[in-house]
Amino acid sequence: MAKISTTKRSPRTKSKADIVQTIKLMEGQYGPFSQEPRLPPMDEMVFTILSQHTSDINSSRAFRRLMERFGTLEEVAKAGVPEIMDAIAPGGLAKIKAPRIKEVLDKVMELNGSLDLSFLQEMPLNEAKAWLRQLPGIGPKSAGIVLSFSLGMPAMAIDTHIYRVSQRLGVIGPKVSVDKAHDILEAKVEPEEVFNFHVAYINHGRQVCRAQRPICAECVVGDLCPSRKKFLTKAELAVLAAGEKQTLAGSGGAPMPHVPQS
Ligand code: SF4
Repeated sequence: MAKISTTKRSPRTKSKADIVQTIKLMEGQYGPFSQEPRLPPMDEMVFTILSQHTSDINSSRAFRRLMERFGTLEEVAKAGVPEIMDAIAPGGLAKIKAPRIKEVLDKVMELNGSLDLSFLQEMPLNEAKAWLRQLPGIGPKSAGIVLSFSLGMPAMAIDTHIYRVSQRLGVIGPKVSVDKAHDILEAKVEPEEVFNFHVAYINHGRQVCRAQRPICAECVVGDLCPSRKKFLTKAELAVLAAGEKQTLAGSGGAPMPHVPQS
């Protein structure tokens, strides 16, 4: 296990971490990140519904089966719930997800006359979000995924990892709801940094700042984190304290150069 570094990082602070700095440090650790559009927006939305409460492998399998069976989402929209349910069964929770997919497709057809959502890209971000949020079962996270990953817009999509890391780093308050966190973070993170923020914080939450037993001793943003001391063991705290003492002695306790008397 890597030792706690107390020399090359930014000064430790008890206040909230600087978001830009945390993104940079995490990108250095997990990056570089590159943004490539994944799926057309309507496909991305169906994929997002399929990925709820299941693994990436299962949701990919369900999406693939759906497209193999129907060919296009237009054909899915014409199908009945039982046929959709049968196609997505390997992804799990098909009884819940099939009617949800059908409802969303029907609503988009009703509002837009087609399943092409590329017009959202021409709208201001808030209007595009509001348009998607009127669809049944589409919350801020699903809307954010479609806008950000499919259309490259600077929308936040806060999942459980991003939410937890943001709270521990103090970039959102402890009582902020996950829905509210979308608006707060969208206002705090520069549009050109939203994608990097998303990927950096998700990686960090999955790999280091885990829900149970975060690995604070190896954390690249540990020196900026107001929560770190809460999670360190006694031994790790002692190493940290010794390092801080040494750093103080190194910077403030150096002997003064000899000044010759005249
Ligand atoms: S120091 Fe610990 S709690 Fe803070 S961000 Fe790092 S892993 Fe998470």
